[in-house]
Amino acid sequence: MGTHSLSLEEIMSMIREFVKERDWEKFHKPSALAMSVSIELGELLELFQWKSDDEILESLKEKEYSDAVRAEVADVLIYTLRLADVMGVDVAKAIAEKMEKNIAKYPVEHWDGKAPSKLNRREPE
Ligand SMILES: [Mg+2]
Repeated sequence: MGTHSLSLEEIMSMIREFVKERDWEKFHKPSALAMSVSIELGELLELFQWKSDDEILESLKEKEYSDAVRAEVADVLIYTLRLADVMGVDVAKAIAEKMEKNIAKYPVEHWDGKAPSKLNRREPE
């Protein structure tokens, strides 16, 4: 199967089919899936534990490490997409809407080069 040009909907269908074939839909309640996202994110963080950002970037040059990071990133995304699917969230639409809000909330002229911290929020006008 070619995997380089899969659409978001094709990816979500692949996940849906995988779950259905195994009769796992009964386990895929929103809270269990949200926990699973968090657990997989923990597994990703475990790969970063005790390493500086420079050490992480250096480790990514090793195949075993970069494969492990890629696998955990995939796990986080798979459970996130599954959670969205079960809850009827249109992922592309939700992201597009949220990005529009982010663009309005963080105008480039104020935020260029600044970290989005509560401490450097612009005063309400
Ligand atoms: Mg994992």
